[in-house]
Amino acid sequence: MTAATEIAFENTFVRDLEGLYVPWQGARVPEPRTVLVNDALARELGLDPAVLRSPEGLGLLTGTAVPESATTVAQAYAGHQFGGYAPRLGDGRALLVGELVTPTGERRDLHLKGSGRTPFARGGDGKAPLGPMLREYVVSEAMHALGVPTTRSLAVVTTGEHVLRDRGPEPGAVLARTAASHLRVGTFQFAASTGDADVLRRLADHAIARHHPSCAGAANPYLELFRRVVEVQATLIAQWMHLGFVHGVMNTDNMTISGETIDYGPCAFLDAHDPAAVYSSIDHGGRYAYGNQPGIAQWNLARFGEALLPLLDDDRDEAVRLATEVLEGFAELYLSARDDGYRTKLGLPAGFAAGPMLEDLARLLAEQKPDHTLFFRRLSTAARGDAGPVRALFDDPSTAADDWLASWRAAGPDGAAMDRVNPIYVPRNHLVEEALGAAVADGDLEPVQWLLQVLGHPYEERPGYERYAEPAGPDAPPFVTFCGT
Ligand code: AMP
Ligand code: MG
Repeated sequence: MTAATEIAFENTFVRDLEGLYVPWQGARVPEPRTVLVNDALARELGLDPAVLRSPEGLGLLTGTAVPESATTVAQAYAGHQFGGYAPRLGDGRALLVGELVTPTGERRDLHLKGSGRTPFARGGDGKAPLGPMLREYVVSEAMHALGVPTTRSLAVVTTGEHVLRDRGPEPGAVLARTAASHLRVGTFQFAASTGDADVLRRLADHAIARHHPSCAGAANPYLELFRRVVEVQATLIAQWMHLGFVHGVMNTDNMTISGETIDYGPCAFLDAHDPAAVYSSIDHGGRYAYGNQPGIAQWNLARFGEALLPLLDDDRDEAVRLATEVLEGFAELYLSARDDGYRTKLGLPAGFAAGPMLEDLARLLAEQKPDHTLFFRRLSTAARGDAGPVRALFDDPSTAADDWLASWRAAGPDGAAMDRVNPIYVPRNHLVEEALGAAVADGDLEPVQWLLQVLGHPYEERPGYERYAEPAGPDAPPFVTFCGT
């Protein structure tokens, strides 16, 4: 097996995109220790998990001693944060190590988060606490198992330092994650802000080659790139909505060009279905509430379209017209992905005209706020003839729920098909908190390992795992996430 120092990285980002990064190294790490290594992902990447656990592997995973083939850089990007434009964000505490080409020919970034201050750190300490890095690991791997495009988590290493946050000192950690790339809407905003059309064009060409190669042959490749990103984001957001996933910080720097979910800081899963659900302590206006996510995605894509304008047409008005037309397609793409997904979740055949039934369901769920995950999972039992478990999630009695259930049953739903698409195990907030608490406070990784194991098979109901399917108890305090990660 290849030693850590011999791992072959490629560096197309660095080669193609001068001006969009600063070469940088990881900060010294006093006492690196492996907390988690994702063996299955390592193998998919063509890496030996044992090598990642070796001392050289720790050098790689902390960015302190990387193979000769790697060129570690901090990437530059801008972004709208809660609607306000920040012209220079960039990797303040992260490094791109390089790109790995997997045995199946896929190109994946290896990226470290928590690897020390960079020139983009502004006031930040460049560090990351263990809890939030484990949180990203658990939730991103759960999303992957749920079939959602996402960055993935390769390893978490503690640094032997303490990091100070509002909650007090916590062990410092570095998360190693992989992604189709780390190109964001904010990367394009940054490139556009340089005023150098060549930089923007190189970035767009790089994105096309890497993610949407079919655009290259189009009459207007950059317009086609915009269209493809609108498409992949529309389907991604529909998947979030189906699962009750609340990203929590949909700033334009946290929206990828690849269509993968990225940056699991203040994210959460719905317990009670509620379009207004917000978990982030700093989202006072509810900008990133569950039900607002499709609208925000379109807003972010409008910022992407603006950044692309100089490439779309020499005539500014014509460029705006072209971009607007593509952007307006978002609603239809999203609604069709949303409805297709709900039709599948309800076990109905592909051609079934479910529109009115879905509208009634949306109203019912918003009014009565049953547990999102259990509602869809228990429906399959109703499809098989026992509506008791799903009725128990509604007001007692609820004519609205009974009426809806009757009309849906009359459509002949397929219960077995439903169990393949409606998860029973999602990273419920209280379970994630409990597992992270044990890891951070007591150094006990066992609850995290169990949780990862359960969440790795989200559709397969297993005896003995009942508590992983249950919502937090009625006395649980409201769940809040913090951005100070
Ligand atoms: P995020 O909220 O993780 O998407 O980060 C938003 C921006 O803040 C990015 O530019 C990060 O690199 C930067 N950032 C977040 N935390 C820190 C930190 N502790 N030190 C330096 N930069 C940070
Ligand atoms: Mg971010």
